[in-house]
Amino acid sequence: MVASVHPSVVVLGGGIAGMSAAQELMERGFHVTVMESRRIPGGKARSMPVPGTGTEGRRDLPGEHGFRFFPKFYKHVTDTMKRIPYQGGRRSVYDNLIEGTNLGLAFFDRPMQPFLTEFPQSISGWRTLLKSLFRNNLNLSEHDIDHYVSALWKVLTSCDERRLLDYQRVSWWDFLQAEKQSPEFRHIFTGLTRILVAARAREVNACTVGTVGATIMLDMVLPGGSADRLLNGPTNDVWINPWLNYLRQGGVDYRFGAKVEHIHCEDSRIQGVTVTENGQSRRVTADYYLAALPVEVMAELLNDGLLAGDPLLGGLIELAKNVEWMNGVQFYLKEDVPIIHGHVIYMDSPWALTSVSQAQFWPEFRLSDYGNGQVRGIISIDVSDWKVPGILYGKPAMECTREEIKAEVWEQIKRSLNQDKIVLSDDMLVEWNLDEDIQFEEGRATNAEPLLVNHVNTWNLRPNAYTAIPNLFLASDYVRTNTDLATMESANEAARRAVNCILERAGSDASPCKIWDMYDYPILSAWRSNDRARFHKGLPWNGKIIG
Ligand SMILES: Cc1cc2nc3c(=O)[nH]c(=O)nc-3n(C[C@H](O)[C@H](O)[C@H](O)COP(=O)(O)OP(=O)(O)OC[C@H]3O[C@@H](n4cnc5c(N)ncnc54)[C@H](O)[C@@H]3O)c2cc1C
Repeated sequence: MVASVHPSVVVLGGGIAGMSAAQELMERGFHVTVMESRRIPGGKARSMPVPGTGTEGRRDLPGEHGFRFFPKFYKHVTDTMKRIPYQGGRRSVYDNLIEGTNLGLAFFDRPMQPFLTEFPQSISGWRTLLKSLFRNNLNLSEHDIDHYVSALWKVLTSCDERRLLDYQRVSWWDFLQAEKQSPEFRHIFTGLTRILVAARAREVNACTVGTVGATIMLDMVLPGGSADRLLNGPTNDVWINPWLNYLRQGGVDYRFGAKVEHIHCEDSRIQGVTVTENGQSRRVTADYYLAALPVEVMAELLNDGLLAGDPLLGGLIELAKNVEWMNGVQFYLKEDVPIIHGHVIYMDSPWALTSVSQAQFWPEFRLSDYGNGQVRGIISIDVSDWKVPGILYGKPAMECTREEIKAEVWEQIKRSLNQDKIVLSDDMLVEWNLDEDIQFEEGRATNAEPLLVNHVNTWNLRPNAYTAIPNLFLASDYVRTNTDLATMESANEAARRAVNCILERAGSDASPCKIWDMYDYPILSAWRSNDRARFHKGLPWNGKIIG
């Protein structure tokens, strides 16, 4: 439905949140301008050519900030993808998502343990199904598995109020009572946290990790498709660039190299934004302003006018301290080494590595058309811990040189994969790439784009999509959402919330953007509603349907 009036909106930042907001507004008839400081769209989700690697007319090798994983529980960002035309509108970019069927856990002292990410069973005994995931060569006792599954079960059957008010104040470590568990329990279950959400179990809150962890595990054991989805080509080729075209064709003015320098707030209203574009500064005005900037950038942009307009925005300064490093490294190989049909978690890697081997998922991309023509396989790796010493130089990634980072990551994955046979060898390596965000100043690495981690007690610092300034709205992965984890899904959900607020303020008759619950397994509702009644009476969770 098209709005009866067509107000203008300036979107600050053109990552997933900014592009999602631009799409929702454009589809409702708003005039939208996006100010993006980089020369490439997509923010942290972007893929990019590795400069100077293409020879004799071939394209530069495809690099990325970090590989893209779309768990089955995503509903918001995938709904948006269904509306982005691909190949002349015959398909949508959503059709470029394909399923990974396995998850591998790799160790330094035993062969990789594969897990199926889709189970064909029917829903019979959820706990039994969850437990079946861990009956593997993981050296876990029956008690370890039972204790972990009970913790997930507690999160799943707790009401929202208890999760948000109680569990976000407790670390995942304390929630699991990890101190009292076996070393194997701590190794596997708290190690998974460090790798999946780039956070230490002692620091991250139980609400976020418990909910996301339980949801991914349930999606692995329930019928209805794989828990793991990924794109069938480089992210910008098969998603972000078609998205940009769709936005521009719909009238969105998406501007590259447009850096927001100052947000002017007077008399509790945004009066304009100073943007530097091609070396020229100018003031941009609109009816509404939607800031889809990373938390640390937004915190830097706060000024007296903004804080006078909404003192609660001051919480962003504290929130912005809760960012960690997570960045990608790609290895380009002269043969395809699929490893496993999905993602691999390197449980013993001190740098908390995860990877995916991409060629098997990119059937329409001939890698021989890229680089020097010799590449046949790509292993894309996320490095999630930059503070723990590595195995070659005894230094954390933050203190390593570019070459040392490459050598460490290569060694950590080789040591994990070459257990019962040689999977990776040095002679396979043609080229490699470290995320362009990692730069080196005076021998120390810097990171232009860290990632927010939901530490204990940070929910209170996180803003809603609306502010007390009537024409300023916030949309990025740090905004309060049902998704509650800094991901493409939360960025998209935040954008929908911000757009809905604009619709309301503008008195628009356009239909609001749809927002889903994080998990809506109807079968759990009996437990959760009983827990809600108990919570409001001040009683603890008891895991029962009645009483
Ligand atoms: C290595 C890594 C791997 C990840 N993997 C996954 C994954 O597999 N699945 C998943 O769901 N999530 C993943 N995430 C998280 C996800 O990428 C982010 O949470 C999400 O992309 C954030 O989107 P955003 O739009 O909120 O912010 P951003 O992506 O940070 O977008 C903000 C935009 O604002 C621009 N900008 C910054 N400053 C200015 C300025 N002053 N003026 C104008 N523009 C500015 C930036 O260039 C950027 O384009 C990963 C993150 C990392 C770091």
